[in-house]
Amino acid sequence: MADLIGHGPLLNELKRLALSAEPPHAILLDGPESTGRTLLARCYAQLLNCLERENRPATELPCGECRPCRLIHEQKHADVIDLGIGDTLCHPRSGDSHDHDRARDIRICQVRGLIDLVSRYPLEARTRVITIDPAESMRPEAQNSLLKTLEEPPPHTALILLTSAPQDLLDTVLSRCRRLEVRPVPLSVVEAALLARGIRPEIAAEAAGQANGRPGLAIQLAEQPSLLEDRARLLERFAEVAAGGLKDRFAYADRLADRWRSDPSGVRKELATWDHFWERDLRIATEAGDRDAALAAANALKAIATCRDNLTANVIARAATELMVLSFPRRTLAEARTEEAVHA
Ligand SMILES: [Zn+2]
Ligand SMILES: [Zn+2]
Repeated sequence: MADLIGHGPLLNELKRLALSAEPPHAILLDGPESTGRTLLARCYAQLLNCLERENRPATELPCGECRPCRLIHEQKHADVIDLGIGDTLCHPRSGDSHDHDRARDIRICQVRGLIDLVSRYPLEARTRVITIDPAESMRPEAQNSLLKTLEEPPPHTALILLTSAPQDLLDTVLSRCRRLEVRPVPLSVVEAALLARGIRPEIAAEAAGQANGRPGLAIQLAEQPSLLEDRARLLERFAEVAAGGLKDRFAYADRLADRWRSDPSGVRKELATWDHFWERDLRIATEAGDRDAALAAANALKAIATCRDNLTANVIARAATELMVLSFPRRTLAEARTEEAVHA
């Protein structure tokens, strides 16, 4: 897997599982976005379907060259399907008309489509692989309708659930999956991978630092330095909000809430950047052994997760964003600068 950055031990575990006599038919990859979960899922699909499975040692698998390996890599394999928010596999009940425009969740009609699909033989794959991402965006009724398939999928079927919020999955779903944790990748590994791609050293260091263990994000930032600048500006703005009084915080929260109506995906991205902001604090505080600061940053991260849940659950947007900024610890700008200096 040329594109995967880090995750050596996890990849070995996936190989062990995929090459075992009875590979698990439901896997949950639990970890933050942009850490490599999709590539790991694709790799598992290749391992299950590689034509060299019987011929080569595990260290040389997946081969990356056979037809299934290539098609999966190019995302063109007819039996390897990504099920996400949208209308993939939508299977409406007759007479019920609905559309998936502006959908924020994976719906029961899509799960119905999945169940219908796996009841038939794959077109050409040894094992059909369906990735559900983000799995937590299935509402409880959609999750419930998936249970039977998760427990006893038809032969030739593997399901891979990707999530960054396992707490939003039903226990009955979690208990039916082989759960693997996808951790952030060490900064030095991400930086080295960027350098190996020919990224200039100063950009590689900055992108790896900002991406906080998410190689996918680091590559994106390194390839578009303007993104890196936008992000640096946004993080500066966040530092002001975190250092500001109630008035500043509410003003920020209200603008964010207004934007939720017209641009929910922009707001989600901004919340993800808030995650990175406090994750960086958490990392620096943990490295410095400052427990209070680490706890404060961890609470801020929880507040962001709650805000995201509230927005998804259609709580009044303003209430959700105000609650979040109120829960952020007060932080001074001077603190932020010193931390950055220490970190640099
Ligand atoms: Zn192969
Ligand atoms: Zn539908």
